Amino acid sequence: MTKINVPELFGSLVFDDRVMRARLSADVYQSLRKTIDENAELQQDIAQAVASEMRDWAVEHGATHFTHWFQPLTGVTAEKHDSFITPSPDGGVIMEFSGKELIKGEPDASSFPSGGLRATFEARGYTAWDPTSYAFIKDHTLCIPTAFCSYAGDALDKKTPLLRSMQALNKQAKRILKLFGKDAKNVRTSVGPEQEYFLIDREMFEKRPDLVYTGRTLFGAMPPKGQELDDHYFGAIKPRVIAFMEDLNTELWKLGILAKTEHNEVAPAQHELAPIFSSTNVATDKNQLTMEIMRKVAGKHGLACLLHEKPFAGVNGSGKHNNWSMATDEGVNLLSPGETPHENAQFLLFLCAVIQAVDDYQDLLRLSVATAGNDHRLGANEAPPAIISVFLGDELTSILEAIKNDIPYEAAQKVTMKLGVHALPRFSRDTTDRNRTSPFAFTGNKFEFRSLGSSNSIACCNIMLNAAVAESLKQYADRLEGAEDFEKELHDLIRETIRKHERILFNGNGYGEEWVKEATEIRGLSNLKTTADAMPHLLDQKNMDMLMAHKVFTETELHSRCEIMLENYCKTVNIEGHTMVDMVRKNYLPAIVGYLGSLAGAVARMKSVSERVKCHYEISTMERLSELSDEILEQVEKLEAVLKDLQTYEDIIRTSEAVRDDVLPAMDALRSLVDEAEMLSPESCWPFPSYGKLLFSVN
Ligand code: ADP
Ligand code: MG
Repeated sequence: MTKINVPELFGSLVFDDRVMRARLSADVYQSLRKTIDENAELQQDIAQAVASEMRDWAVEHGATHFTHWFQPLTGVTAEKHDSFITPSPDGGVIMEFSGKELIKGEPDASSFPSGGLRATFEARGYTAWDPTSYAFIKDHTLCIPTAFCSYAGDALDKKTPLLRSMQALNKQAKRILKLFGKDAKNVRTSVGPEQEYFLIDREMFEKRPDLVYTGRTLFGAMPPKGQELDDHYFGAIKPRVIAFMEDLNTELWKLGILAKTEHNEVAPAQHELAPIFSSTNVATDKNQLTMEIMRKVAGKHGLACLLHEKPFAGVNGSGKHNNWSMATDEGVNLLSPGETPHENAQFLLFLCAVIQAVDDYQDLLRLSVATAGNDHRLGANEAPPAIISVFLGDELTSILEAIKNDIPYEAAQKVTMKLGVHALPRFSRDTTDRNRTSPFAFTGNKFEFRSLGSSNSIACCNIMLNAAVAESLKQYADRLEGAEDFEKELHDLIRETIRKHERILFNGNGYGEEWVKEATEIRGLSNLKTTADAMPHLLDQKNMDMLMAHKVFTETELHSRCEIMLENYCKTVNIEGHTMVDMVRKNYLPAIVGYLGSLAGAVARMKSVSERVKCHYEISTMERLSELSDEILEQVEKLEAVLKDLQTYEDIIRTSEAVRDDVLPAMDALRSLVDEAEMLSPESCWPFPSYGKLLFSVN
């Protein structure tokens, strides 16, 4: 094994602070730093100086091209490469890169989803440099992280609203801190996303059209062994997987990605990677990059990396945990319980802001993780339910109870919690992180939002989370800034907030049937089961008002996003449906017919030799398979019909309801027939690799 020097390798392909400080002149460095830290506007001449140093550095590191790297609403990243070359008078070329090219790009936007924005505005869009996320080199190309907008100023990407939401939270959190006598320059939200994925053999992957076209298996009977022994979770990692992980870490470290933890997950062939947390926009860029590099490195190892939320029925799917907190520029974590009474009051206020935000905007959080893929997980006893609730753990819950009721908190010593006077009793972090069934859990000094699907961009949920928390903080600041007696007002505010929003707090089993009943019938929490149910709530008046008030989205953007997300849901399922039809007609039915023919031939030949052979096995198999092939035909025709109907609905909401009510059930019915036929057929006759082969062949 080659030995690698991690500190030397780390960030070697990133134009990071170390590089900037070493290569830029002091003035240029200072003013760029000001732009990064305080959102100060960047001057043209500074941009020019940065661009030329960036080019020299990139060329020294083997780059020939540059690109504005952005995140359109397709959910993946986009890039269009331009080489640095400019002709020189002597017939050769020189490598050029201007400040203008660094700051602004003009990709043709017409083929990216715009959800109606294109109808009203120009198709062209522009990309603008996000200097808070460092430029990096990938495949001989200098990648400049950017935001992507239309010429009319509407966001066409996920990064613009994310930056706006961070801005909104920053503004409100600073108001609150001021009330506690603190003058923070900046409050940023930070995220550490834990990423799950599957690794399977590339050769097997390529033999399955469903995996190739849709990222998930649409058919496949369960193998004799699944995840029931729990022997994969944290198990010893297989040599081929280790080789992949080592290579992956190396590539990620070069890109300055703080890949930290790796382990096997619950399902066979499932793994997880967690980085150390960073500022939300940077974490978003890096998570997108991580997913891309995972796929690429897998290919080099003869593997396929599946990032779909539910690649296999019957075993766990993959999610992503969004560990989220807020911190000042001095690194003070605002969700960390403090040492003094004063700090604790501040902590409780920020805690309340999150609790209120999650309660008031359950629907926004739910829809921020809604995709066709993730619908297979939420509420399926492997991931949190579609109902959003907050887990605080017993100790913190009893502290809030005590505050709410003005009763003594029974800890080691009895204390009545008077905020600003008493210190919070120490509670151990250990009791917090244990409930894995909660969608939104406090884990000692951060919240972990666990409903994300593995392929989701983390931008979506963090936009909603930041905006909703900004809204709670705004309400608090409005009230507290005018208070005559700050301590009293603060105490009342916290108590009222707990009383008003305690319905969202739930420490019990989120997978249980009883919870669904209690949550929806007694507590009145929303239970938006599918993307079709959830997404239209983006346009609920209260949600639009809040998102617009904090300037996170404009009205046009909200309409366009709702449309794009629903369109994406419909298109995804439509492709899956057509893939099923294709596989059934071209492969499964012909395979079944072929086997029926050989069974019939065998029976006829045997009977011609001896009258006494009964051929029980052959005949009963033949009869059931023949019945199944008729049922499969009937069901595939049904699926074709409902897919065809999809084209006839005028509006996207109606189409998405038909996807939910007609297409998905037809797909399920077809699948179960084909899976039954698989169990009756010899492996040699079956057209595609089995689940057993897909899940257990990487060693
Ligand atoms: P787990 O028990 O879930 O593995 P860890 O404490 O190891 O929890 O953290 C999981 C993720 O949370 C990591 O990515 C870590 O960097 C991140 N994390 C830790 N502290 C914070 C924070 N203050 N803000 C955001 N993410 C954080
Ligand atoms: Mg975790």
